[in-house]
Amino acid sequence: MRHTTGQTGGDRRTHIENPDVVLIGSGIMSANLGALLKRLAPHLAIQVYEVTEGLAQESSHGWNNAGTGHAGICELSYTPNREADGTVNVAKAIGIFEQFEQSKQFWSYAVSSGMTGRPKEFINPVQHISFVHGQDQVDFLKARHAAMSAHHFFREMQYTTDRATIGEWVPLVVEGRDPVPIAATKMDGGTDVNFGVLASQLLTWLAAQKDCGVATHHKVIDLKKTGNGWRVGVKNLATNEVRWNETKFVFVGAGGGSLPLLQRSGIAECKGLGGFPIGGQWLVCDNPELVKKHHAKVYGQALDAAPTMAVPHLDSRILDGKRTLLFGPFAAWTTKFLHRKGRWSDLPRSIKPDNFTTLLKIAIHNLPLIRYLVQQGTQSMADRMAVLKIFYPAARADDWRLIDAGIRVQAIKKTDGEAGIVHYGTEVITNPERTISALLGASPGASVSVPIVLDVIKNCFPELLAKDSSRARLKEMIPTWDEDLKLPANAARFQAVRSLTNERLQLS
Ligand SMILES: Cc1cc2nc3c(=O)[nH]c(=O)nc-3n(C[C@H](O)[C@H](O)[C@H](O)COP(=O)(O)OP(=O)(O)OC[C@H]3O[C@@H](n4cnc5c(N)ncnc54)[C@H](O)[C@@H]3O)c2cc1C
Repeated sequence: MRHTTGQTGGDRRTHIENPDVVLIGSGIMSANLGALLKRLAPHLAIQVYEVTEGLAQESSHGWNNAGTGHAGICELSYTPNREADGTVNVAKAIGIFEQFEQSKQFWSYAVSSGMTGRPKEFINPVQHISFVHGQDQVDFLKARHAAMSAHHFFREMQYTTDRATIGEWVPLVVEGRDPVPIAATKMDGGTDVNFGVLASQLLTWLAAQKDCGVATHHKVIDLKKTGNGWRVGVKNLATNEVRWNETKFVFVGAGGGSLPLLQRSGIAECKGLGGFPIGGQWLVCDNPELVKKHHAKVYGQALDAAPTMAVPHLDSRILDGKRTLLFGPFAAWTTKFLHRKGRWSDLPRSIKPDNFTTLLKIAIHNLPLIRYLVQQGTQSMADRMAVLKIFYPAARADDWRLIDAGIRVQAIKKTDGEAGIVHYGTEVITNPERTISALLGASPGASVSVPIVLDVIKNCFPELLAKDSSRARLKEMIPTWDEDLKLPANAARFQAVRSLTNERLQLS
């Protein structure tokens, strides 16, 4: 029997002494990892530490991200411009779609086994639409649709250049629009996800399990290597008491807080890594008539040097139990790594002798990106309305207000002989002993969080998947974890598993 202190409830302060696993952060990544591990190996003792007073208050919180279940359906950034032969490469969109299906499979298992509340509390169906204007883009979308709809994942995708049809799909997009060529694709089966609600529900379930503890208002301040794991230094922010807890495995799922913690751990794998924060902002519509008229997520093409994750979109969302309309994100200049508990000194303090040159070279080689961020940071409401009008030409400023969204800390990596790269994807850093894994980067993020943490399990807990019985348990949770649904031969299997998943998540 392990020693436990504290209590669960509003301000969770439960501590498990010497747990097998420490999860830092209560966002969607730690929540999925904790829930999956505990189901897979019920004997594991798991401790979660979260710096804020509540669960999932940072990037995973509903208002801090776009809530798009990224499935490659509408995001044009996954399908680059046309090749020389006029075709569009859709491999990345197909890959993201499959990964999101695995996430959905686990969440549908969580619903059906009582680990969460009702699915409507965190996932809702919404049409995913790509919209373009101008003949070049219309031609591009047509070629993209031809390639996408040839694959069984996207067979039902519809394409049209007909204004009346687009007006039926998304009336706001055509209201007051000039007579330039326009086109759109639409596919049902898209989703809006509140990753914050889902993470909180999974962690509340975890906290109620034997030998598991979730302590909020507790900041991890240090990580010291031991013979077979880590000593984790944790500060109770209510009392300022610092305590040390030993564990065999640490998952740094601290979002923007991951890089500073990795740097404290001193593992060789983080040498040369840097982080570059990009804040987000939304325009929120307060006019219920407009909210009622728009029932889709509408994505377009990137503007200028906008990084892929700052491509704005017009989104119907379900937040705090009601339908709302958001446009954005706009990129915002910040030096904080966390929205709620970040400090202006986060960026300067993350600059170390081993990453200084990489950061400098990145700055020199990414001047258009820096110019873009400065321009975004200094724009007025009129500038933002001009971008909104690309999607909704009749938009009026008094229907909209600006709010802050979450912060994404882009991982910056040294590359051999090159200037280094701003890595827009997600990067999992693991030490050779496999006693610590950390997640850096942001996109496509929460949507593919289940396959990401599954990779952490495969890599760091291979013994858990060695037995037939545990592989069978995993198959129950993620039926296609060891299958390739992309293959044409698996089209029927894909349909069968998807139907069950969608039924459990009430997405049908
Ligand atoms: C503007 C914007 C739009 C986005 N849109 C989408 C989208 O549409 N679809 C999608 O799939 N993804 C989207 N993302 C990405 C997605 O939000 C993230 O990938 C995901 O939420 C990351 O989850 P996480 O658990 O890693 O981090 P977080 O949710 O940030 O959780 C990290 C937690 O760690 C805690 N923490 C930090 N430091 C410490 C410490 N020292 N000790 C204890 N706790 C600590 C933090 O308080 C926080 O609660 C978007 C992100 C942004 C910013």
